[in-house]
Amino acid sequence: MKPLIGVITSTELDDDIYYEGKDNVNAIMKAGGIPILLPYYDQEVDIKEIASRLDGLYATGGYDIDPTLFGEEPHPKLGTILPERDIFEIALINKMLEMDKPILGVCRGSQTLNIALGGDMYQDIYSQIEGELLQHQQKAPKYHGSHFVEVKKGSLLNRLTGETKLKVNSRHHQANRNVVEPLQICATASDGVIEAIESTKHRFALALQWHPENMYSKNDPIAESIFRGFIAACVKE
Ligand code: MN
Repeated sequence: MKPLIGVITSTELDDDIYYEGKDNVNAIMKAGGIPILLPYYDQEVDIKEIASRLDGLYATGGYDIDPTLFGEEPHPKLGTILPERDIFEIALINKMLEMDKPILGVCRGSQTLNIALGGDMYQDIYSQIEGELLQHQQKAPKYHGSHFVEVKKGSLLNRLTGETKLKVNSRHHQANRNVVEPLQICATASDGVIEAIESTKHRFALALQWHPENMYSKNDPIAESIFRGFIAACVKE
């Protein structure tokens, strides 16, 4: 049986439509999962039921995250936030982790995984990190790998891809700052920006700062190994 993968949807400020990009949805389908698009719930009983029915969770990219969730006030460079999404997403991540069900996060999903476990993040890397940074908001096509990341040997990301250096796309102005146990940093850019984190305690909880779904849309083999590894972890034994 194909595993059911919850996909966190997006919305616009004061809009009444839930949506998700086709690259995200197609990546789950291509890798062998069935994507289930999730609207935002606010009751714990519902979130628990959703987690118990899903076989895996895919935390997609999207808007910025409410900094009060990690004890800060909004920086001037903070972008749009959707508080209902933040609360639902973090609660669902926590429930999935409690049940030790697989999670794959991309972009924003790497911040929500970290915050769910007590970590924090830069609201804007360019104004909050000293020194010159790489171009993390690439102007190349979205599927194009534009900067390198170094992958930690022996990590889940290393085992999935078989690589210690990857070329990844980049469309973010935020990034994780303090990564706390049981999470570890498993990929870093040459400017020190954290590009991937994973849990050392859970079966499969991996989150990437980049967008493998866009690379997978062009059949990138590394992106494929990440999505296939995620779906394989979600298949019930
Ligand atoms: Mn980047």
